Amino acid sequence: MTTHEEPLDSVLETVGETPLVRVHTAPDEVPVYAKLESFNPGASVKDRIGKYMLERMLEDGQLDPGGTVIEPTAGNTGIGLAVAAGQLGLDAIFVVPERFSLEKQQLMRALGAEVINTPTEDDMGGAIQRAHELAEELDNAVVPQQFENPLNTEAHYATTGPEIYDALDGEVGAVVAGCGTAGTLMGIAKYHREQHPDTYVGAVEPEGSLYSEFKGDHPEADAYKIEGIGTHDIETNQLFEPDLVDDVIQVSDRAAHEEVQRLAAEEGHLVASSAAAASVAAVGVAERIASGEIDAPYDSVVTVFPDSSERYLSKGLYRSYEEWEG
Ligand code: PMP
Repeated sequence: MTTHEEPLDSVLETVGETPLVRVHTAPDEVPVYAKLESFNPGASVKDRIGKYMLERMLEDGQLDPGGTVIEPTAGNTGIGLAVAAGQLGLDAIFVVPERFSLEKQQLMRALGAEVINTPTEDDMGGAIQRAHELAEELDNAVVPQQFENPLNTEAHYATTGPEIYDALDGEVGAVVAGCGTAGTLMGIAKYHREQHPDTYVGAVEPEGSLYSEFKGDHPEADAYKIEGIGTHDIETNQLFEPDLVDDVIQVSDRAAHEEVQRLAAEEGHLVASSAAAASVAAVGVAERIASGEIDAPYDSVVTVFPDSSERYLSKGLYRSYEEWEG
């Protein structure tokens, strides 16, 4: 475990052990703490799975040294995998739907990876299909497939979950986090439910996303601007375990956009829209614990701020709601 207090050999050793910082709009009696994942070397939560998945796949022989990693990704996973692949002597190719931010695609290329775009209208499903086609064309290539690879959840079960638990001496009442692949939330939730089976777990998604179908709801699909979380096809989201989730909490683009700006102006957090959505939802859960509506084992809520707003400046994240492209 790194303390960040000694010289290190590689950026891979700086993955994880991120700070946990209070969100000040929560009620005093039920504090909310956010895990600041932009402190990772590739500046997002996905550095954790990049390192963890590739190290495990090399260890168990799914991937040979000198091989190629191909991944369908909205961007942060590409950056996390590219950081790890570069340091572990692997090549990397990423398949990215066009609508995702250009900053991320530039960073993946800078890290030595190849980026291939698929049409926005084909969504992540189209990117997943193209990644598998490419893997068949190449020798010694694997698709880690973060949407269905248990190593994604395991990375958070092994690192993010225990880090949060230790930082709060085990006194975690609720875990609330956005779901893209759901690996972050599932890994943390699994770890915490093992410690306290009645830990409250809230999954956060944008309005217009369909995660609540897993809980038997019939939401209406719609476009949303929040980037990195949500789904329009729950068949894709193989890691989500409905039994580990108490509620799916929807946050509007407008509420997330307002919170992005408030978090920067009032609390000094340069975080993006998925963090803001998580913040709004986590504070809502804290209020429900404070009012007695949610019965949690401890009066505290933990959430995750997955990445930094700097990655979305070109999309107008800090401009007016109408100018924000999402
Ligand atoms: N926020 C951002 C900005 C992301 O890129 C992602 C990953 N798609 C998430 C949140 C969600 O993380 P997970 O895939 O672990 O659910």
